[in-house]
Amino acid sequence: MPAVDVVPLDSAAVDSEGDELEELDDLDARASELPECLAGLFAHDTLILGCELELLPQKIIVRTKDGDVVYKLAPQFLLDTMLINHHPADSIYRHIWTDERVNPYGTMFDSLKEDVHVPMAGFRLPAPGYVTSPYGWRRGRIHKGTDIKVQVGDSIRAAWAGQVRIVGWDPRGYGYFVVLRHENGLETVYGHLSRPLVDEYEAVPAGYVLGLGGNTGRSTGSHLHFEIRYLGEAMNPANLIDFATGELRNKEEYVIGIKAMKQARAEQAAMKYHKVRSGDTLSGIARKYGTTVRKLCQLNKIKETKILQIGQKIRVR
Ligand SMILES: [Zn+2]
Repeated sequence: MPAVDVVPLDSAAVDSEGDELEELDDLDARASELPECLAGLFAHDTLILGCELELLPQKIIVRTKDGDVVYKLAPQFLLDTMLINHHPADSIYRHIWTDERVNPYGTMFDSLKEDVHVPMAGFRLPAPGYVTSPYGWRRGRIHKGTDIKVQVGDSIRAAWAGQVRIVGWDPRGYGYFVVLRHENGLETVYGHLSRPLVDEYEAVPAGYVLGLGGNTGRSTGSHLHFEIRYLGEAMNPANLIDFATGELRNKEEYVIGIKAMKQARAEQAAMKYHKVRSGDTLSGIARKYGTTVRKLCQLNKIKETKILQIGQKIRVR
């Protein structure tokens, strides 16, 4: 007899009280006796592959692709582990929760097929300043957020209620930064802070002051670098938020067009840049890449008379 009993959800053995279920009070239950997905929870600490968990009073429902199983009164250590591992939008993120990287989600975004409808309720503007630099291509690489003018010491607020996944220090990039996970499935990133004021794992309401604005990391002039991501994939915050008015463009939901996002990324991947060296000219670069000066000027939005700077990146495709 296994230490952990599994009863299918639709089995006659399940009544509304769950009284017929075996009690899982064997504290010696070992990972090898759990279904594969729960064993994964022990093996990887935070990772459950292919399972969704639903925590209810008196029972835990584990949904797997082979059907649902119900646990009544899991052993305390199992409950503890599950509660420790319960974070916003866990089912979307398959229980991956780590402070090691801003995007630890591998190919999870790529495996999405359907457009994602994200509820927008409860939004608060992170900072009221004007946009100093938008999301998009900038100096030969993608700028994955919107830069908002703030003064050192200004309050930087949570865009939605959520839980703090990372409080980090990235001297060559974000500076002091905070990453939040929200119940709607989005994650938001707040960079160049002078001082974070929250701790990892802390649950915060919308509008909560996460830290103070600053100029840390790769930043010239104090500003907030604000990112919105879904499964690690950054999107243009200005598509959701009208920064001129501080209001959401659609207060109900934002639809992430998966096909369009993948297409845009494929186009970005196909882009090619040339780093300008001493003696380079537009016509020389055009010859080298089999294009024309006119096309180069269109791609880079420059005039043919533009003086090239050494080290500057010129888009050639
Ligand atoms: Zn930025």
